[in-house]
Amino acid sequence: MDDLRLTALDGMNTIGGSKLLLEFDGHGVLLDFGMNFARTNRYYEEYLRPRTTTGLLDHVIMGTVPDVRGLYRDDLMHPDLHLTGPEIDAVDAVLLSHGHLDHSGDIGFIKPGVPVATSAMTAAIVKASQDCVRNEPGREPVYIARRRVEDLRGAKVLRSRREDLVGRDYFTLDGAPSDDLRRFWGFLPSFELSKRSRAAQLIPGQLDHDLKGLDCELVPVDHSIKGAAAFLIGTSTGSVVYTGDLRMHGLGGAATRDFVSRARSEDTHALVIEGTRVRRSDGQESSRPDATEKEVRDVADAILAGIVGEFAIADFGPRNVERLEIFLDLSRRAHRSLVVTPKDAYLLHAMHTVDQAMPLPGDDMRVYDSPKGSTDRYEEWIVEHRYADSLVTPSEVVRSPGDYLLSFSFFDMKHLIDIRPGGGHYIYSSSEAHNEEQEIDFRRLGEWLKRFAIESHGFEIDADGRPSFASEDGPLHASGHASPEELAKIVREVDPDVLVPVHTENPKWFEDTFGGERKVVLPKQYETVVL
Ligand SMILES: [Zn+2]
Repeated sequence: MDDLRLTALDGMNTIGGSKLLLEFDGHGVLLDFGMNFARTNRYYEEYLRPRTTTGLLDHVIMGTVPDVRGLYRDDLMHPDLHLTGPEIDAVDAVLLSHGHLDHSGDIGFIKPGVPVATSAMTAAIVKASQDCVRNEPGREPVYIARRRVEDLRGAKVLRSRREDLVGRDYFTLDGAPSDDLRRFWGFLPSFELSKRSRAAQLIPGQLDHDLKGLDCELVPVDHSIKGAAAFLIGTSTGSVVYTGDLRMHGLGGAATRDFVSRARSEDTHALVIEGTRVRRSDGQESSRPDATEKEVRDVADAILAGIVGEFAIADFGPRNVERLEIFLDLSRRAHRSLVVTPKDAYLLHAMHTVDQAMPLPGDDMRVYDSPKGSTDRYEEWIVEHRYADSLVTPSEVVRSPGDYLLSFSFFDMKHLIDIRPGGGHYIYSSSEAHNEEQEIDFRRLGEWLKRFAIESHGFEIDADGRPSFASEDGPLHASGHASPEELAKIVREVDPDVLVPVHTENPKWFEDTFGGERKVVLPKQYETVVL
């Protein structure tokens, strides 16, 4: 029997940035390859970013991506960069659990020959997200603009020519990709819009559902993003189960329960499980009670029923399309049209290629058209080409504010200048502030709302200038993650021999809770453990 080995490359003792290498029977797979926000935010902020002309240099020197050899794109190797970390032999695939950036955000650094295995929905989401960002090498999970070394005043810089894009292969393990998704795979708004100019080319990677030679099954779970999945990996030592991120209390909680029974029946040897909500004992307690999506829905419904005719904004997190669907349904009941940003519309368009039940802009969902704030090609494509019949302009909102529910966030506050509502409601239905920088953003959001006399629901700014998320209306947000009690139930039901906590600030909790009953492995960076 071959050894089953696990090496943590990144993401220990933190939420997100998980990059685990699992090796067995001559195979190697990476369990997610996400951005490590905690480490990145230690050094960087909005106006101090890793340079885009140095490839991996800034990332490796600052430790925001791990120093490993044999894994990264050759074209991102800046001449000043010398990798010294462990050599990674061969990786068959990245098993991508879902499309959140803390799981998918660094895939673009990996050699294009390494395919990604995921759900069709996650493939569509990461493609759509990449189409909306500009020139960040890590954020090229689906297609890659190769960098070339150029001399610039005696220094070496890495520059891309965007006309030739090379694709990475994706395996949609939940079934053959639809024709619509195949078409979207080779489509780019910028190319579509510049057909008559110089011919640019995207050579899309292969899109297939048969990941040859690897015993790997994708099992859907419920999380705050569509397409989330766990993986069951067959090895000669026994099954390894990786949960990704999951929860029981969402509208799709049945999927998570089915996954747990499936993992139990599999006689799981090792369970790699997330622990987001297991906080450090010295950590700040949440000011919010646990809530379900159903409760959130009822609270938001009651608020909308009480503000008929008034200007209203609903703020749910980016890519939280389940919450968007809830608000779309509520706005129909309240005889309003939900107004989404072009970015949301583009994401929905992508998701619709996989699931025809996904809503698209039309009569009851409109796209906010603000030429003053529009710069990107995907926006132009959405507004001028694809959904030109479903737009709403600021002046239409001014004329009848009660007809719309605007899906805006802090970063859309600039649009209030064109609307100048002079009263209204802001329904905040997303995560709490997790760090000082986010607290400052909330303080600014509070000032914007004050400026336009808008009442907030779901958060308020205290006298000392700090945001509080206790909501008088009732809960307006439900977590994307299982509670510690639910995690304990999952562990005991799946009943693995070996437990590996990841995606948590408090791995020690797992040792304290389960150490007496099974082997608990707390991975350290670059250390290989035999499971
Ligand atoms: Zn997630």
